[in-house]
Amino acid sequence: MIVCGADGSGPAPWRVAVVGVGPRGLGVLERTAARLAQHRVGRRVELYAIDLVEPGAGRIWRADQSSCLLMNTPAGEVTMFSGPPDRGLARAGAGPSLAQWWRATRPGDGGGEVAYAPRYLSGRYLRFVLDAVESGLPDNVVLHRVRGCVVAARRAGCAGGWELILDDGRTVEADRVVLTPGHPRPELDDEQRALSQFAGSRPHLQYDRSPKLHSGHHDGLSKVVDVRSGLRLLDPGLPPANDPKSRGWSLLW
Ligand SMILES: Cc1cc2nc3c(=O)[nH]c(=O)nc-3n(C[C@H](O)[C@H](O)[C@H](O)COP(=O)(O)OP(=O)(O)OC[C@H]3O[C@@H](n4cnc5c(N)ncnc54)[C@H](O)[C@@H]3O)c2cc1C
Repeated sequence: MIVCGADGSGPAPWRVAVVGVGPRGLGVLERTAARLAQHRVGRRVELYAIDLVEPGAGRIWRADQSSCLLMNTPAGEVTMFSGPPDRGLARAGAGPSLAQWWRATRPGDGGGEVAYAPRYLSGRYLRFVLDAVESGLPDNVVLHRVRGCVVAARRAGCAGGWELILDDGRTVEADRVVLTPGHPRPELDDEQRALSQFAGSRPHLQYDRSPKLHSGHHDGLSKVVDVRSGLRLLDPGLPPANDPKSRGWSLLW
C-alpha cells in the first residue's frame, strides 16, 4: 500500500495520480503545479507520477537509446514549460525550451534553435523538467514518483476516489486520475504469437507486426481523464499554447 487515508490531523490530502508520465503526463503535472503555485489551497496536495519506465522521460524518450536516434522537431520549437524562463529558477510555469536548456547545460555540443536533439537528450530534458517542477512545488504539495505498471483502476472509499492497482500488488489511492499512457502496446494474438516465436528461434529473423489498437478499460469515466497521444508532440486536439508559435510538448488546459 503506497497511500494511506487521512491520519486524523486536519483535512485529508487531495490526491491526484497521473498514470503514464511521458511528455503528456508531464505536461499535466507542470500545469497542475503552476496552478497550485498561483492559487494556494488550504490543504495538503499529493501528486503521483506513475510510469512503468521512468516518470519524466517515459518510455519513448528514455536515456538508454542510441545517440543516432534524433527527435524530428527542431529544439527551439520544443518546450515543456507553459511560460518562458524568467530571472528565477526553472519551475512550473517558467523554464527554458529544449534548445535553451541544451545550450546552457552542454555548451559546444551543437545545440541550437534549429538543431535536432538526440532522443536520449530530449529525455534528459524531460527529467530536468520534472525535477524543476518538483523543486518548485509549494510547501503544501508533494510529488511521489512511482515506477510501476498500473493494471486496473477501481472505485475506492465513499468520497468517490479511485484505487489504482499495480502489477506487483502495490496500490495507489487518488481522488482524481489522469490517464496519459501514450501509444498502446498491443498484445499478440495466437497467430502473431506463433509467428513471433518462430522468428525468435531464428537469429536472422525478426517478427514485425502491425499494431492492433485496443482501448483501456475502467469502470466509470467521471474523475478519470484519459488523454491518448497523437502521433507527434503537437497534438491538434489540444488548445494552442500561449506562445504564437507552436511549442512542442507544451500542453495548456
Ligand atoms: C520510437 C518513437 C519515436 C518518436 N519520435 C518522435 C519525434 O521525434 N517527435 C515527435 O514529435 N514525436 C515522436 N514520437 C511520438 C511520441 O509518441 C510523442 O512524441 C510523445 O512521446 C507522446 O507523449 P505521451 O506522453 O502521450 O506518450 P509516451 O511518451 O508514450 O508516454 C506514455 C507513458 O505512459 C507509460 N505507461 C503506459 N501504460 C502504463 C501503465 N499501465 N502504467 C504505468 N505507466 C504506463 C509509458 O511507460 C510511457 O512512458 C515518437 C514515438 C515513438 C514510438
